[in-house]
Amino acid sequence: MHLEGSCHCGAVRFSLEAQSPVPFMHCHCSICRKTAGSGGYAVNLGGHANTLKVRGEKNLGLYHAVMREPGQRATRSKAERRFCLKCGSPLWLWDPRWPELVHPHASAIDTPLPKPPEVVEAALEFAASWVDVPQGPGHVHCATWPNESLEEWHVRHGLLDGGSEERR
Ligand SMILES: [Zn+2]
Ligand SMILES: [Zn+2]
Repeated sequence: MHLEGSCHCGAVRFSLEAQSPVPFMHCHCSICRKTAGSGGYAVNLGGHANTLKVRGEKNLGLYHAVMREPGQRATRSKAERRFCLKCGSPLWLWDPRWPELVHPHASAIDTPLPKPPEVVEAALEFAASWVDVPQGPGHVHCATWPNESLEEWHVRHGLLDGGSEERR
């Protein structure tokens, strides 16, 4: 599925082809909350890194998250979190350990996205106390992250590439 995205001020615009465009994954981890967590969580999508096209690249900020575990030395995440230097909008994550993937934040996408048939509330052990985590049918709760990848979830629900094959 072709996705167009932008930051709030418009200094950065981007597009990509996404095999995992359904916004079903709410990540409640502390990194997502602080860097992208409008509702206390970020909503992660999956696309093909080699299709990512960016306009306004000079306005891109780069953040490597610093992770501090009690009793351990702080470590720097290899993942590259990109945001707009002018307005601060979180845009996407790219990780050299999975270089073929890029993970745009659903919040930055302007293309209408398919509505998820179920939502996975992930990383709940890191959720802030004030977050009202949605419960009930259609909400899967996960203390950390599911074993299933974003792409495997899409295959299981017949929604790979947004389910375009069924629409054709
Ligand atoms: Zn901006
Ligand atoms: Zn997260």
